Amino acid sequence: MVVGERDAAGDYDRVGKFAAELRGETPTRIIEWALERYAPRLAVVSNFGPSTVTVIHHLAELGKTDVPVLHIDTGFEFPETEEVGARLTQRYGIQIQDIRPELTVTQQAEKYGDELYKSDSDYCCYMRKVLPLEKVLSEYDAWVTGIRKSQGSTRRAAQVVEWDVRHDMIKVNPLAEWDSDDVWAFIRENDIPYNTLHDNGYPSIGCWPCTRSVAEGGDERSGRWSGLNKAECGIHLTHFATPQPTEKGR
Ligand code: SF4
Repeated sequence: MVVGERDAAGDYDRVGKFAAELRGETPTRIIEWALERYAPRLAVVSNFGPSTVTVIHHLAELGKTDVPVLHIDTGFEFPETEEVGARLTQRYGIQIQDIRPELTVTQQAEKYGDELYKSDSDYCCYMRKVLPLEKVLSEYDAWVTGIRKSQGSTRRAAQVVEWDVRHDMIKVNPLAEWDSDDVWAFIRENDIPYNTLHDNGYPSIGCWPCTRSVAEGGDERSGRWSGLNKAECGIHLTHFATPQPTEKGR
């Protein structure tokens, strides 16, 4: 493959073949394949959740700690999330690149009100997560995620490698076939740094205003946007209409 602007565009036609070839392979082999085919125009996107810390560990085992790890810093992160980023850097020497929205939390509050995450969570996610990531991903041909089929109906169709229609690029999901028990067994076995909130009833962690704890045995992502008809911020959605802003006081 020639390295250059969006060189993987032709892979749109080949992605089904790639997925068939990689089906049943280990995460290590899937990541290795992605590195061979797309590095250096490949990045990992991580919220430092259990799945992506597992991906980061796999990368380190392959000696590839120079692959950029893109982290969306919305300004609404739990302190524990920031801490795990620091511990991952210390353990693996990875290159974390924080991606930030155009508006600070204060500027957003001035323009759209103090609690946009309550009045219009889709637009808040769009400004603070979707748009900033979209801009940065345009520099790459492929991204590696931690999404798993077992995370719920919105992720059930995930393939180990697929064409990301939204970002017009290759998306690699090396843990697509793993479940939560597989991930946690791997984390414990390898003593991988993880967010300590997971020990206190938070199976999935996003921004603090939109994350709550879940009773034992509860659905893995049920603590995200609880009470709203919303299960995804939008970065993993294939069909996503650009939300329109609700201006403060409108
Ligand atoms: S998860 Fe909540 S606070 Fe974070 S960007 Fe989305 S709506 Fe805003």
